[in-house]
Amino acid sequence: MTSIQNNIQLINSQIAATEQNCGRVQGEVQLLAVSKTKPVEAILEACEAGHRMFGENYVQEGVAKVALFREQHPELDIEWHFIGPIQSNKTRPVAEHFDWVHTINRDKIAQRLNEQRPADMPPLQVLIQVNTSGEASKSGVDDEQVFELAQLISELPNLTLRGVMSIPENVSDYQSQLVAFKALAKLKNALAERYPQVDTLSMGMSGDMQAAIEAGSTIVRIGTAIFGARDYSNKA
Ligand SMILES: *Cc1c(COP(=O)(O)O)cnc(C)c1O
Repeated sequence: MTSIQNNIQLINSQIAATEQNCGRVQGEVQLLAVSKTKPVEAILEACEAGHRMFGENYVQEGVAKVALFREQHPELDIEWHFIGPIQSNKTRPVAEHFDWVHTINRDKIAQRLNEQRPADMPPLQVLIQVNTSGEASKSGVDDEQVFELAQLISELPNLTLRGVMSIPENVSDYQSQLVAFKALAKLKNALAERYPQVDTLSMGMSGDMQAAIEAGSTIVRIGTAIFGARDYSNKA
């Protein structure tokens, strides 16, 4: 077994153990392997361990990987999630390649993705990015804007609103992590009361996965703990 395969097995067992300790339904939390900056070979290794859900952050890099796998490895049937910031002039390739988008943060992005989603593809599964900590530097809408944006998305035929996503402030203290994640879980539950197809809470990364699961995460986005540290030297 390669180290990537070992890491996936380890994280899957950590997820299962945390679900059990927190009284969560077994198998409710999905692992999104964040493969940004990593080569195609690393993704193939993860696929050989049975993994099929991958997240990418950069449009150009992500689209190239999706196209390559659809062409050369269609049998793998990978589910691709876009989890990076989206500029409005880059929505088309995202709409044409990805299955999910976690980072919808304004009307214009939702409208463009809806218009540009090809008719022969299923609706794009989308999450609204929420800025729980209210930091100006972080992208995402505040609690009130979530409901306005959700209403708009619910009227767009080529998008399916599935929930919310957040990247809370990076803190190492477990209780502080839990407070931020619980606020997000409450928001997702309020949204689910209005929109029955809402079932997804994308939160938790390598450094705060446990607290995210305790608070109700349904997708944890894990990069470093699977693929190792990233090298950004070739990114602008
Ligand atoms: C890079 C990234 C991750 C993965 O982070 P790790 O700390 O490497 O697990 C998760 N979510 C988003 C939005 C990211 O950009």
